[in-house]
Amino acid sequence: MAQTVVQNQKGLKTLQPLDVELRNVFKFFNQEPAVHGVDLDVRQGEFFSILGPSGCGKTTTLRLIAGFERVDAGKLLIQGQLMTDIPPHQRPVNTVFQSYALFNHLNVWENIAFGLRLKKISKSEIASRVTEALKLVKMESLRSRVPSQLSGGQQQRVALARALVNRPAVILLDEPLGALDLKLRKEMQVELSNLHKDLGLTFVMVTHDQEEALSLSDRIAVMNQGKIEQIGTPSEIYERPQTAFVADFIGDTNLFSGEIAEIDAECIKISTKTGLTIIVNRSEQTSLEVSQNVIVSVRPEKIQLSLYPPNIPTNCFEGRLINVMYLGTHVNYVVELINGININVLQPNSYGSLPDRHTPIYAWWEKADCLAISQVDN
Ligand code: ATP
Repeated sequence: MAQTVVQNQKGLKTLQPLDVELRNVFKFFNQEPAVHGVDLDVRQGEFFSILGPSGCGKTTTLRLIAGFERVDAGKLLIQGQLMTDIPPHQRPVNTVFQSYALFNHLNVWENIAFGLRLKKISKSEIASRVTEALKLVKMESLRSRVPSQLSGGQQQRVALARALVNRPAVILLDEPLGALDLKLRKEMQVELSNLHKDLGLTFVMVTHDQEEALSLSDRIAVMNQGKIEQIGTPSEIYERPQTAFVADFIGDTNLFSGEIAEIDAECIKISTKTGLTIIVNRSEQTSLEVSQNVIVSVRPEKIQLSLYPPNIPTNCFEGRLINVMYLGTHVNYVVELINGININVLQPNSYGSLPDRHTPIYAWWEKADCLAISQVDN
């Protein structure tokens, strides 16, 4: 089976088997590429998410892995085996759909056994597989209930058990929590994460919800217009976005477009189009050059506010508050900087009374808390 070298937190390198590999994969609909040269590896046992806005090609990518769509160009391998001519039911994968697609008139046991009966598997084999799947999702005691007598989390477990009876290597999840309200969604995220850990199987999930992807995944592929923008751990994606799209799509951020004016051993000086000078730490940004166009990204929670001029030599700008929004645990401030640009600032709600709109204010951030991203035209 194909393997990849993975470096752990202590710097040790180990070989990890790959369950899914996409190599320069294309899928066209009406001559338009829905999936455009996608390369990705999913490691055995990992929770891998494909995240992106509506229409970016994430569902098509999942359907290509499932075998519901044919790859037009490139290669798709599952557990090292080329999938070109392998139909969906012969692939070692199973899909859990958004709606769970449970049969309301069948009880839990029958819902799980349904697919196996269609495949004409013997009664004794069905019994042992359904029992095993029920045990894995801890639903043995509810085997006689119908879906309407189950909570959302329990229904999700049945949907997973129905995928597990086929003993797949990879579970594909298509927006599995998309139809739920926010509170239930949060509860189910915990359930799904626990199930993934208990089962030790590979999960590939498609979602447009960045918070869901960040909280559940070992690694995330961010897609945009059929292409992968970045693949990384949640913290890599959030803290070190490699493109302006990723910085903007994942969480809130303030983006400043500008040009590199100077680079020295430690810092990069950027002149923004709106007349600000921003200093960024040079670490990890060695590929940037003077005169290059860049986007500077600063997260709202990294920006500090002060009513008096702070003794900060860099990245400190005068402005005035134009909006103060109380959010319970946090307060969101919109500050109009002296150059007329608005920035968002998020601070914990620990100040007691909030300043009024129009209050003159200073906004500042550390060099290490902003990032210069090279601006490439797609
Ligand atoms: P959403 O979150 O809205 O489901 P998505 O990121 O999953 O979006 P896809 O469903 O993969 O996006 O669609 C990618 C592109 O391919 C879209 O432009 C879509 O209209 C197009 N597309 C998808 N399936 C088909 C199809 N069967 N026929 C024609 N075009 C399609």
